[in-house]
Amino acid sequence: MVYPPRCISCGTMVESDFGLCGPCWRDTPFISGLVCDACGTQLPGQAGPVPEYCDDCLATARPWSRGRSALRYRDNGRRLVLALKHGDRQDLARPAANWMARAAQPILRPDTLIAPVPLHWLRMLSRRFNQAAVLAQGVARETGLDWCPDLLTRPRRTQSLGGLDRDARHATLDGAIRVNPRRAGRLCGRDILIVDDVMTSGATLSAATQACHAAGARDVCILTLARVGKDA
Ligand SMILES: [Zn+2]
Ligand SMILES: [Zn+2]
Repeated sequence: MVYPPRCISCGTMVESDFGLCGPCWRDTPFISGLVCDACGTQLPGQAGPVPEYCDDCLATARPWSRGRSALRYRDNGRRLVLALKHGDRQDLARPAANWMARAAQPILRPDTLIAPVPLHWLRMLSRRFNQAAVLAQGVARETGLDWCPDLLTRPRRTQSLGGLDRDARHATLDGAIRVNPRRAGRLCGRDILIVDDVMTSGATLSAATQACHAAGARDVCILTLARVGKDA
């Protein structure tokens, strides 16, 4: 029995596998055109020869060098992220990884090693899977690049970041992410792409980037499925 392909958002039958129907495509806030070179949020204006940055990235120094994101975290972008994170919707990972791989094209290098933001093992037990790892694996498949699911670890359990301001988020996560000592050899001198589902303040991605730099990474970029923007 072959099931007809369905829109991953509304379930309507569509012509090709792993995609959105026309109306859902139009309702999904894909990021395009001029973007912040550090976080990938959409900026007004036309892409030019020099990198541009959003207000957030100008106000908060980012330890990574470049970043991209596929969606704005609003409307259907937000619904897809939450369905991937909390629902049994791992079927969303394949199209999501495809969108992320496209957004990341300008910042990928041939020897880039892809690594997901880790969950603490207790949270991993309660959630059963790490959506960042599922996305990282998908981006590796789409791009043909290497990935390492346990490059980064989270030895310390941190409180939820909800309700904390930007400085408190950065303080809470300081030192919370480490490079797995058994994988340090794969990272040394290499370009790393850190993958997560959502970027809000960037505190988690900062902690992950600092861990990579401390372990000898050459350059670190970041890639998220969705970026929480001022309008989101
Ligand atoms: Zn649809
Ligand atoms: Zn930015």
